[in-house]
Amino acid sequence: MDQQAGQSELPGAGEQDDTDDDADADQLKNRVETLEQQHEEMEQKYLDAQSETTKLQQKANRLEQENQKLKQSPTFVATVKELTSSGVLVKQHGNNQEAVTEVTDERREDLEPGDRVTINNNLSITGKLERGLDARAQAMQVDHSPEATYDDIGGIEDQIEGVRETVEMPLESPDVFDSVGIDPPSGVLLHGPPGTGKTMLAKAVANQTDATFISMAGSELVQKFIGEGSKMVRDLFEVARENEPAVIFIDEIDAIASQRTDSKTSGESEVQRTMMQLLSELDGFDDRGDVMIIAATNRFDMLDEALLRPGRFDRLIEVPKPDVDAREEIFQIHTEEMNLEDDIDFEGLAEMAADASGADIRSICTEAGMFAIRDGREVVSESDFFQAREEVLEDEEEENHAEASQPSSPAFA
Ligand code: ATP
Repeated sequence: MDQQAGQSELPGAGEQDDTDDDADADQLKNRVETLEQQHEEMEQKYLDAQSETTKLQQKANRLEQENQKLKQSPTFVATVKELTSSGVLVKQHGNNQEAVTEVTDERREDLEPGDRVTINNNLSITGKLERGLDARAQAMQVDHSPEATYDDIGGIEDQIEGVRETVEMPLESPDVFDSVGIDPPSGVLLHGPPGTGKTMLAKAVANQTDATFISMAGSELVQKFIGEGSKMVRDLFEVARENEPAVIFIDEIDAIASQRTDSKTSGESEVQRTMMQLLSELDGFDDRGDVMIIAATNRFDMLDEALLRPGRFDRLIEVPKPDVDAREEIFQIHTEEMNLEDDIDFEGLAEMAADASGADIRSICTEAGMFAIRDGREVVSESDFFQAREEVLEDEEEENHAEASQPSSPAFA
């Protein structure tokens, strides 16, 4: 012991102790640093795990909700017909079942006739469909104040007269029909080549009578709303009733009302269901109020005769391609706002544009303006129209000749 004690007291022994302490301290410090680092890493991992847990929890909640929804019974679409003292009268789409259902005061305040709502199995209203979500909004265009006027249409005065008599009179003076004791005509069918002003004519009547113009294209109905065609037709008439006075315009009616074939494909029977719905809407239209129907087709020869029976389209009006005088008038209409050189020979333009439809003439006028612009001029010259004609009618001429050689469809008045 003594020897050890004696050794510790050897010179330099204290220094050795200090060095050892320093080394221990360094070691400890390093250890603390390592532990601290490890702690930080563990903490980070813990936070990551926590956020992962939250995410998984949220996902689990979402799946749970979806699961709940899937387990719930489906909802159906219905239209509010009336708000009565005993509840809300709704009519379910598809089966036309009507029911009176009770609603809360808040819900009642939010509803009005014509609204589309979702209902459950118990026929209770579970929600209201926003108009923007309505499929029917995509299928039809509703124009509350169409701009076309009769003055914008050239060369078809007789046709304008026919449409005014059939559509305008029942809307503006229904009493005339009452006093004579006859039913007003139910609608008019315009037929003739494309671009001859059929749509314009329908819009002009709506404008003249301050009616809402509601249009739907038969081809879209068949191509875009497969399986929903008949519902869309029903909706079309419903929207019209909601917007009285209204003019319904069904363009390309041949797409839904062509002659029935024996084909049993699902596409065919779908088109036929749409057509049957259309016929039943036309038949049940006695109580139509201020709603008139105008239909149009380029394929009169294809139409199903059922559509042409009395009481459906009472008036069939042919809108032909414009003759030379009509073309002159249409040129004048479409150049009214154009900056033209003096003394344009409109008769010459009309002769030059033989076989052009009204829509072609409008394109020729626009194209003539483009020639002037490309040439750095502000004034459109006669030769611009001649050049424009080449451009616009080049591709169409062959088609027109082919069409002209076909027998024209019968015109009724
Ligand atoms: P489609 O059968 O192809 O639907 P449509 O007969 O309904 O054709 P519109 O859509 O009315 O023809 O015409 C297209 C455009 O052509 C009109 O916006 C108008 O600018 C012009 N147009 C057609 N016919 C005439 C016309 N008779 N007078 C003046 N412009 C016309």
